[in-house]
Amino acid sequence: MRLVLMGPPGAGKGTQAKRLIDEFSMVHLSSGDIFREVRASGSALGERLAAYMDAGELVPDDLVVSIMAQAISESDSASGIMLDGFPRTVPQAEALDEQLSQASATLDAVVVIVADDDVIVERITGRRSCPECGKIFHVTFMPSAAGEFCDVCGDGKVALTQREDDREDVVRQRLAAYLAQTQPVIGYYRRAGLKMIELNGNGSPEEVTAELMTALQAVGLRN
Ligand code: AMP
Repeated sequence: MRLVLMGPPGAGKGTQAKRLIDEFSMVHLSSGDIFREVRASGSALGERLAAYMDAGELVPDDLVVSIMAQAISESDSASGIMLDGFPRTVPQAEALDEQLSQASATLDAVVVIVADDDVIVERITGRRSCPECGKIFHVTFMPSAAGEFCDVCGDGKVALTQREDDREDVVRQRLAAYLAQTQPVIGYYRRAGLKMIELNGNGSPEEVTAELMTALQAVGLRN
């Protein structure tokens, strides 16, 4: 199965993606995660990506398409892929179509998770993570037992960090980019006649997962 998972930042795509890959054997390709890995390598390409990411702007299509085309061709397998955060513009969607058609492959469905801006801003700006073990916390919804420090690492002495692009001004910019550049991709896929699954992401992760599983059944992608 090949799915595209779309939605504004903070709608819960990452959480639902993890649940989907537990249920179906799929490779999870998150463009944001891939770009963060490239950044962490400290390469010149990573520095180019960082400038856009830290400003909450989309990385230019040519860069995105070349990185993602390689990731897809390396991991597309019989079991399928879950694309999370890509494509985010119509030219990216066109490039993906082209790559899939060259491999005689198609997308099975597009999952769109929507959520209110206020819910998104609260979710993202409260997000913290441990720089050592990667554990994710939320100052309100999932606080660390050690306050501002990781409750797993270094006897409570490792300070939690906030992603540069999780600050409120950057989150608002990311939401604006979603509205202007990514929402048109939904229309593009609808016009192409793909199966569209639209979910309300304001609820709890469990509620969204239940809605998603029911919707996958309804379109014949789950028994
Ligand atoms: P995410 O973790 O998916 O919110 O992505 C973090 C940042 O990476 C975004 O704010 C963009 O700067 C960049 N990014 C990720 N995926 C894409 C994409 N498909 N097109 C353009 N920029 C992207």
